[in-house]
Amino acid sequence: MVDFIGIRRVQELVGDLGPAAFIAGLAREIEADYRRWGEFDKSPRHATHSPVGVIELMPACDGRQYAFKYVNGHPKNTAKGLLTVMAFGMLSDVETGYPLLLSEMTLTTALRTAATSAVAARWMARSDSRVMALIGNGSQAEFQAIAFHAMQGIRELRLYDTDPEATEKLEGNLAGLALAGLRVVRCRSTAEAVRGADIVTTVTADKRNATILTPDMVVPGMFLNAVGGDCPGKTELHADILLRPDARVVVEFEPQSRIEGEIQQLPAEFQVTELTEVVTACKPGRGNDAEVTIFDTVGFALQDFSALRYLHRLHQQRRGSRSSIDLIPDLEDPKDLFSLVGGVPQARARPVPIAELTA
Ligand code: NAD
Repeated sequence: MVDFIGIRRVQELVGDLGPAAFIAGLAREIEADYRRWGEFDKSPRHATHSPVGVIELMPACDGRQYAFKYVNGHPKNTAKGLLTVMAFGMLSDVETGYPLLLSEMTLTTALRTAATSAVAARWMARSDSRVMALIGNGSQAEFQAIAFHAMQGIRELRLYDTDPEATEKLEGNLAGLALAGLRVVRCRSTAEAVRGADIVTTVTADKRNATILTPDMVVPGMFLNAVGGDCPGKTELHADILLRPDARVVVEFEPQSRIEGEIQQLPAEFQVTELTEVVTACKPGRGNDAEVTIFDTVGFALQDFSALRYLHRLHQQRRGSRSSIDLIPDLEDPKDLFSLVGGVPQARARPVPIAELTA
């Protein structure tokens, strides 16, 4: 039997710890895995593009366990009442190749994306950052807000989305944090939201080279957490922001980010730092308080590997509705796979004439 984590189980596990503590625990797991970067077999994800979206496969392996995620990105989906991003994934044992866990990863992707942004912010944002602009108020937005409030000490959140209903939804979902002292301000434009912010998180969905942030909106000392640009031809920052002489750009895995990140707009010789170098203190995430630091995140398989292991551990440790599925045959004789179908008494299973099947 293979452990199974569906939506309800993730809800239970997140509810058990509370979303902030869940994300903080996951951030610790992700950072620990980025510190042992050299142990991982890494590759850019396999992306299958269509005019309206992308479907991707994301594998990662540390020699003991292997993980993969199936994930899509379809910005026009919400107009049909469907999610832009949804995912599921698997964790396996390298020694035998046997799957250990099959899991939902739609909620988990939002949780791990927020956790990864928080890891980057810990190293790249000014420690006195208290105001964050959140541009793009869709599915990922609450998770980013919770992570930055709990882990980065954000006290004021300035919201903007081209869809006012998305902002209304976000504001409603953040009512609990507002009671806990988070000031939530609705803004009429990105420029208004960004004015006075220490951190700007862009998490919009639009399959084009958008310029959500233009150079005039960015001031020294800001940390930009650019989440929504994650595909060829899908970016959020004006290239001149990346080219500022005081800018420092950090990516997850350079070969993948060159294809998918904001830096796809720049020539290959443009210098970037990888997140692993930052969390191992080989290179600074921020050189001084005046630098503009940019986390050009696209989402890397390592974060999903960390998330699946974290979920699996919680699933095994914590009470509640644990379930498993019969995905893999359990055989007395591993050479007798046919016993699973051949043992059905012929008398009871009326054989269908082959001619009927081929008709
Ligand atoms: P979503 O469709 O639920 O929300 C996106 C929001 O962006 C929508 O409310 C939309 O109205 C808004 N928007 C679009 N254009 C805008 C503009 N010009 N200005 C302001 N708002 C604008 O999508 P989601 O699930 O929240 O995902 C958001 C983005 O994050 C997607 O592009 C997705 O691919 C990306 N993403 C990245 C990672 C990562 O690891 N880097 C992980 C998950 C999702």
